[in-house]
Amino acid sequence: MKVADYILKIMPYEGGKPIEELQRELGLKNVVKLASNENPLGPSVRVIETICSVANKVHLYPDGNAYYLTQKLSNFLGVSEKNIILGNGSDEIIELIYKAFATNPNDEILYCYPSFIEYRIIGMAFNKKIIELPLKNFTYDIDSLIEHINDNTRIVFINTPNNPTGTLTTYDDIQRIIQKASKDTLIVIDEAYYEYAKPCNAYKELLDLYKQENVIILRTFSKAYSLAGLRIGYGIASEFIVNTLNRVRPPFNVNIIAQAAAIAALDDTEHLQKSVRTNDEGKKFLYEQFRELNLFYVPTCANFILFSTPKDAQEVYNNLLREGVIVRSMKPYGYTNFLRVTIGTQEENEIFIEKLKRVLNV
Ligand SMILES: *Cc1c(COP(=O)(O)O)cnc(C)c1O
Repeated sequence: MKVADYILKIMPYEGGKPIEELQRELGLKNVVKLASNENPLGPSVRVIETICSVANKVHLYPDGNAYYLTQKLSNFLGVSEKNIILGNGSDEIIELIYKAFATNPNDEILYCYPSFIEYRIIGMAFNKKIIELPLKNFTYDIDSLIEHINDNTRIVFINTPNNPTGTLTTYDDIQRIIQKASKDTLIVIDEAYYEYAKPCNAYKELLDLYKQENVIILRTFSKAYSLAGLRIGYGIASEFIVNTLNRVRPPFNVNIIAQAAAIAALDDTEHLQKSVRTNDEGKKFLYEQFRELNLFYVPTCANFILFSTPKDAQEVYNNLLREGVIVRSMKPYGYTNFLRVTIGTQEENEIFIEKLKRVLNV
């Protein structure tokens, strides 16, 4: 069977190693996973109860328009329901964006790199010309980005805080990009780590940018809201953008359990606050430990930290696996002497540091 060359060039997405996989492979009982920026506290009791309460409805198709959740988000965000699009994870919304807006063979996709690898993978699946500009000092290089915007630029991805570096792009810099881009260029602001970024000193609210006709803001329930396994995210954009995305959206893309759980998660402000607090405390602890170990790290506004290792990072990664700690190798991103660790509970962070010391012989 023939497969197009541009499909064969795609390297499949490699997620963080699942806990069960490592347990199976190495016969380990205790495994700490700090690889996928999941919420270490897990879902709240309220969310779990809600999930159980809809279990007897799974023979029914979900509400394709997610009426109640959309209402809820509308109130929560202070935007009209008409400005909200839901996806099977914000990953799916990225795909819908390509599907609906990058329809011309000459279209160019622009962002800084390393950033979220799905921008590349989905772009390759749509056979788009992808332009990846290097980060500068681990941060989006806005001057370079602006220089590279031209008439063919169809989508600009701005990931803030940026995965895997945790660095912010400022409101003013995003404004500069919007001003330079034509109205036929969609500016995607990916705020997957929004809830963690909010307490960060340098963070400024970006939500009102959705009022620009060519901007979409992406958020997710996968990270701070701890629903990664249910696959649900959302976008905030002009009515025109939302309507366009709805034309290419699969009819029942967000399942019935995810819709109910997301409503419960939004209601549970206490759990969210606790999650953010745990993250901030863990961040301070890990910074101190990295300083003591003399390891370079990039200060983060998210729930993960990029840090460098004196030895080959892939080797450190493999040795940590043997100790039952899963972090993220940055080799696929081209950062050969860096690892990314998700900030866990205090207990997980301590185990990580203890094993890291052992692996580094210090
Ligand atoms: C985790 C993540 C997402 C998406 O997650 P979903 O689970 O698909 O909602 C999007 N962008 C970035 C930068 C991420 O790190």
